[in-house]
Amino acid sequence: MGVVWDPARGVVLGEVAESSVGEVDGAVARAGVAFERWRGVAPGERARMLRRFASVVDAHLEELAGLEVRNAGHTVGNARWEAGNVRDVLDYYAGAPERLTGRQIPVPGGLDVTFHEPLGVVGVIVPWNFPMPIAAWGFAPALAAGNTVVLKPAELTPLTALRLAELALEAGLPEGVFTVLPGRGDVVGERFVTNPAVRKIVFTGSTEVGTRIMAGCAAQLKRLTLELGGKSANVVFADADLERAAATAPYGVFDNAGQDCCARSRLLVQRSVYDRFLELLEPAVRAFRVGDPAAEETEMGPLISAGHRDRVAGYVDDARVAFTGGCPSGPGYWYAPTVLLADSPADRHWREEVFGPVVSVLPFDDEADAIRLANDTEYGLSGSIWTRDVGRALRVARAVEAGNLSVNSHSSVRYWTPFGGMKRSGLGRELGPDALHAFTDVKNVFISTEE
Ligand code: NAD
Repeated sequence: MGVVWDPARGVVLGEVAESSVGEVDGAVARAGVAFERWRGVAPGERARMLRRFASVVDAHLEELAGLEVRNAGHTVGNARWEAGNVRDVLDYYAGAPERLTGRQIPVPGGLDVTFHEPLGVVGVIVPWNFPMPIAAWGFAPALAAGNTVVLKPAELTPLTALRLAELALEAGLPEGVFTVLPGRGDVVGERFVTNPAVRKIVFTGSTEVGTRIMAGCAAQLKRLTLELGGKSANVVFADADLERAAATAPYGVFDNAGQDCCARSRLLVQRSVYDRFLELLEPAVRAFRVGDPAAEETEMGPLISAGHRDRVAGYVDDARVAFTGGCPSGPGYWYAPTVLLADSPADRHWREEVFGPVVSVLPFDDEADAIRLANDTEYGLSGSIWTRDVGRALRVARAVEAGNLSVNSHSSVRYWTPFGGMKRSGLGRELGPDALHAFTDVKNVFISTEE
């Protein structure tokens, strides 16, 4: 049995069964049988079932959000957005089955057509930081393209995924089409990788585990999408709207208590406005509302676990702290929003993914310096550029090696635009129109018209 916690109170919420290798194999076999029927369901009918799934999720929005508040410590506002995102992603990909068209290519002596064939059983492995949306980014396009799905939630946060599996059945999805298997990464997750009947892995998590999974998939040439770690830059030029950049910077990094792969945890500020920017940032950080995640006004809840809080603290212990915000004391895994002054880009807190409410600040001299520092990382997931100069915004956006950049904004995710990382932040893209093709193989068929 796995234990699940309420991180805001530091108490045990309950126990969840952990699937064994045998149970994984059984579920994969049933998903394989279900695939043979699911792939043949008429596109319009598959679309209707996914729309029904979306509307059942919508009807349970508050319940799902409440589960995430308790099990992951997410603020209720964020948790509602996350449950709504599952609904929206399902709705969006429900539009796909009838539009998943191939091509007719001119060839002499016959007819040449392509088909987007589903792969079979897809294994989706989910981290604890955004349990609902990340699950949906895998299962919704996979199902829409005609695959069946086995999904493993993170050990610490299985509750919403288990509830989504029940809602899928309530919505009329046939048995075996979408199965949630809670359990350990090195048991359930690893078996997804080694079981040859699982034809594709969608993994979101740490770069370390992702690298291992890629090696495992290589043995079978298994298809793979990887969404991994990040250390994104928030670049503030002297010509930017400094008030707005400073007022929003805390949201760019402390959202979800910094446990966000897109967190802008490296703040690069042009030297000529560096002191002024820190003066503006300090009150914004101190005003950030940290506390009971169930309270409507709360902007940041606790960290996921005591162990993770110790890991985050380990980055701050020997660093130069500029200032911190407030946070509750007492039970629960609290950590105050913290601003660190980097001495150089070699600092450990500047280089490694802290995955907590900690941002490191460093000055830069000019555009070339900003680009060099922004790219001086093994990661390449997201980032922000603050400037009023459109030419500069585009030059820098093109030069920064990251999959998702925003100008004068910190938003990274829209379900209808592509999302994913460059360098060691991942492989492939989720969301948007193209993600669907990552769940199919193209088949080419030539029909001779010769007599
Ligand atoms: P993690 O890598 O420890 O675990 C992720 C999932 O993999 C969990 O379900 C875990 O049980 C499973 N797992 C662990 N070992 C495994 C193995 N040997 N084989 C198969 N599965 C295994 O990551 P985490 O701590 O849960 O999540 C935090 C990390 O996820 C951070 O690095 C963060 O940046 C990253 N992340 C990336 C994105 C993105 O879209 N790029 C989004 C969210 C989180």
